[in-house]
Amino acid sequence: MTLTVHPPGPHLHPDAAAFLDRGPRGLLIGGEWVRAASGATFATRDPATGEHLAEIARADTADVDAAVAAATEALTAPAWAEMTPAARGALLWRIADVIEEHADELAQLETLDQGKSWRTARFGEIPAAVNQFRYYSGWPTKILGETIPTSLSRTPPGKQVFAYTRREPVGVVAAIVPWNSPMLMASMKLAPALAAGCTLVLKPAEDTPLTALRLGELLGEAGLPAGVVNVVTGYGGEAGEALATHRDVAKVTFTGSTAVGKHIAAAAGADLRRVTLELGGKSPSIVMDDADIDQTIEAVSRGIFDNGGQVCVASSRIYAHRDVYERLVEGMAAFGSSLRLGHGLDPHADLGPLVSATQAERVDAFVAEGRAAGVDVVTGGRRDGPAGTFYSPTVLTGVREDMRLMREEIFGPVAAVTPFDDLDEVIGWANDTRYGLAASVFTQGLSNAHRIAGRLQSGTVWVNCHSFLGPELPKGGHKESGWGYENGAQGLENYLETKTVVAVI
Ligand code: NAD
Repeated sequence: MTLTVHPPGPHLHPDAAAFLDRGPRGLLIGGEWVRAASGATFATRDPATGEHLAEIARADTADVDAAVAAATEALTAPAWAEMTPAARGALLWRIADVIEEHADELAQLETLDQGKSWRTARFGEIPAAVNQFRYYSGWPTKILGETIPTSLSRTPPGKQVFAYTRREPVGVVAAIVPWNSPMLMASMKLAPALAAGCTLVLKPAEDTPLTALRLGELLGEAGLPAGVVNVVTGYGGEAGEALATHRDVAKVTFTGSTAVGKHIAAAAGADLRRVTLELGGKSPSIVMDDADIDQTIEAVSRGIFDNGGQVCVASSRIYAHRDVYERLVEGMAAFGSSLRLGHGLDPHADLGPLVSATQAERVDAFVAEGRAAGVDVVTGGRRDGPAGTFYSPTVLTGVREDMRLMREEIFGPVAAVTPFDDLDEVIGWANDTRYGLAASVFTQGLSNAHRIAGRLQSGTVWVNCHSFLGPELPKGGHKESGWGYENGAQGLENYLETKTVVAVI
């Protein structure tokens, strides 16, 4: 591992610098930027250096109440409720254009706040956010009800029954997102919810509020009516809790940890609030003896090391057929140790820091526990950097199936590689987890690939690739990895209710 941490200043886009220089950042409520009612703020920092980036408003219940009230008012205000589907689609396309025009600046803000390499932000996640709005811009004009022929015995003589369904926006949506890919996660919720005609209150994670705040400004520039999207920043236990349990919120769409997801579902249960949950994972990759091994090494290495492994679908458990196991371990170790770590804005850096020292400590504790239990650290396993936030890409062998390393989500660049001899046995290991978010299989055998895909208990299965995601591909977790699906037509369904109208005519 090589590590360089250059100060980001000289590389900064003037708009990103201006955004940071504008002083304390407020909450977006009803189209106005306001302070938290309590006046409280918190700091957001560059995880690579620990440097202070900006002071951010710390919302609590009073601010959440105001934001939900603004979203409730906007839901039926003519500027939004009477906008034609075609105009709503055009607006979503315009939002995509505005994000694209500001891609350099947004990518830099994401990198500074979250740590990820600028290349990942600029050429991966910001374009993926743009694609969310482009994809869903086509949907408002295609949200259809049905006419239903009835056979109702109470139809008065000489009359007919005319029955049809309307698809209506579910109402005010609370969108709560994590810190690993902030702009993309927010867009995955905003685009379909707006396509459906909902209004929202967006709460970004406390570690990474910057792009959500800048997006709030850009939505106004694109022409989104005031109050349709409100942004509240703050802590999960304060602003997040107040938002997720608010009685005027019709729907919570949450991406984050399984623990918080369960808590939100339990609270929603009391009020029967609609909930979609995109939660944690512990995704297995199965490498068969006939796999294209060079392609596989790259795919599974990127699957676990990209974004420092802070990816819900990260390929954290890799099972390789014994005939290819050693080559795979060597290849992954070589791939991991060749990655250059550095400040995300350093153009030579492949990987930035993890999001915080807390996260790096957490990852290190998993590896230390493995070391103490005799796990072999083939490469990596080291914290570094001025703020202790960098973590070297790590390959472990000899991890037993019952270890915490194998059972819990680490959310860091740590892969456990295990040999197998028997297909039934490895599918048993792959499925022996409370998670069911994603999995991959690597083989040249067409039948084997699809048979294995059918047997894996997982919301997504990739064949000869990993982490291939797009707005048109439904994505959701089986088992404790979530409730419901995002993306595609199913993603839109999250934000629609059905109303049946029955008329005697
Ligand atoms: P987290 O659950 O700690 O926080 C996520 C969000 O929830 C943050 O905005 C946080 O402030 C808020 N929050 C925390 N407590 C809350 C509460 N009591 N009520 C309401 N909101 C609350 O998760 P994280 O550490 O930010 O993110 C990492 C997790 O996200 C990992 O488990 C990862 O797998 C998961 N994730 C899942 C997907 C997916 O699509 N399945 C995608 C990305 C990340």
